[in-house]
Amino acid sequence: MKNVDYMCEVPSDCADGTQDRSVYLTFDDGPNPVCTPQILDLLAQHRVPATFFVIGAHAADQPELIRRMIAEGHEVANHTMTHPDLSRCEPGEVEREIVEASNAIRMACPQATVRRMRAPYGVWTEDVLTTSARAGLACVHWSVDPRDWARPGVDAIVDEVLTGVEPGAIVLLHDGWPEELKSATYASLRDQTVTALSRLIPALHHRGFVIRPLPQHH
Ligand SMILES: [Zn+2]
Repeated sequence: MKNVDYMCEVPSDCADGTQDRSVYLTFDDGPNPVCTPQILDLLAQHRVPATFFVIGAHAADQPELIRRMIAEGHEVANHTMTHPDLSRCEPGEVEREIVEASNAIRMACPQATVRRMRAPYGVWTEDVLTTSARAGLACVHWSVDPRDWARPGVDAIVDEVLTGVEPGAIVLLHDGWPEELKSATYASLRDQTVTALSRLIPALHHRGFVIRPLPQHH
């Protein structure tokens, strides 16, 4: 077994003793000024926690949303500074992408503790894993991916999650997109994700799942 690896779902022995029907919501590529507040509103309305794997450049651009995530009890985690494919980066660049993103999060919200990292596109290399470990970051992948970023339709997103979810599942959704700082328009970007989430939370609860924060110890 390797020393450093990434987690795709929460093993039952890591789940704070409350594993039974626990599932975990994660949002990548934000914060986005339009979609992230809508998602935070939904999470607040249903009183469920999430982990936001934010892009450092977006955190620097939208610091008030990082502060809101923390103030509302969510976790803010590292999704690199500019969202490159890390397998195509030089070793020094990998480290800079990871360290700068953590710094950007802490700059936006000094109360934030950055504990986890998710590689852009889920591309994990040995270098990414060891660099993350050196930076004190646990690597988190996902087990359920409804490909909401491709805008497959609200029904498709909801169905894919409800079909794939099981206890310990880590669900991948997106509240932003990597190119947004270069684009003038945010219109309707993640509207399918927002609508899907409004149906998914009650549907998960109805099936007896409990949406929890990712466990601290692993
Ligand atoms: Zn991403």
